[in-house]
Amino acid sequence: MYATLLDGKAVATATKEALGPRIAALAERGVTPGLATILVGDDPASEVYVASKRRTATSLGIVDVHHHLSADVTQDQLDGLIEQLNDDPAVHGILLQLPLPEGLDGEEAVRRIDPAKDADGLHPENLGRLILDQPGPTPCTPTGVLRILDHYEVPTEGRRVVVVGRSFLVGRPISVMLSSKARNATVTLAHSRTEDLPALCREADIIIAAVGQPQLIGLDWVSDGATVIDVGINRTDDGLVGDVDFAVVSERAGAITPVPGGVGPMTIAMLMENTVALAEASAYVAARRRA
Ligand code: NAD
Repeated sequence: MYATLLDGKAVATATKEALGPRIAALAERGVTPGLATILVGDDPASEVYVASKRRTATSLGIVDVHHHLSADVTQDQLDGLIEQLNDDPAVHGILLQLPLPEGLDGEEAVRRIDPAKDADGLHPENLGRLILDQPGPTPCTPTGVLRILDHYEVPTEGRRVVVVGRSFLVGRPISVMLSSKARNATVTLAHSRTEDLPALCREADIIIAAVGQPQLIGLDWVSDGATVIDVGINRTDDGLVGDVDFAVVSERAGAITPVPGGVGPMTIAMLMENTVALAEASAYVAARRRA
């Protein structure tokens, strides 16, 4: 392997360790951060993700409030639970695991979450803040990708970035974040209708793959020394693989994230950081009201 391995697991560990003093400072003010997770239905991948998020929260001393609803829950019942969690002072962050089973509207449910408790940073108000460069919780996976780039000092200023995949969860927010004045990258957002994607990717200094197609990005998509961030998580007969053909691309790229052990752990770490930040903001507001 030629490329530098961008070890998301190590960056996630450092990110979680940095939360320790912040959680201790909250405890001194009588506040324990609380994260509510909502899982609907029995999708095995979602169950694994939520279990991992809950385990991490507990290990950090964040209160774990979990609700597992059956797949035949109505939209009204789901919305009712979200309202209840919005009103619960022990809950500082709410995570609704997406996608929801058929018949339920995930975007509508996310809109119900109090933006001040939006641990995933996906409420339209917070996505609006993101576009306006205003502070607020930011989506976990894109933020995790930026943290990996920062940790390994991969410059973005003036660099050509191709983001493959335009979902509101990953591709679109990361393209906005990278093109902000703080990052100054020149971003191309590619998708399933993009023509000659391999040629476009060969122009990129940084490729971010968030597609959901196992090993789509091969050797001839990547120029020598490019940085390749693989967001994809695909379950195949050979186990978990990303959207990048790691074995061959790692011979040409300058730096690359593995799957597993790349972006995935960062998504969870950023969820914890968002929850702690929301608890801090809530404690600040409560203190101001008392003053
Ligand atoms: P999505 O299905 O919502 O979006 C996929 C995007 O890829 C779409 O915009 C589509 O236009 C594009 N696309 C599909 N086929 C394409 C092709 N052949 N060429 C170019 N573009 C194509 O998916 P998502 O929620 O953004 O997730 C993408 C991948 O990232 C999935 O594998 C998912 O499991 C993974 N994911 C990982 C994490 C993590 O923490 N590592 C978090 C979220 C999603």
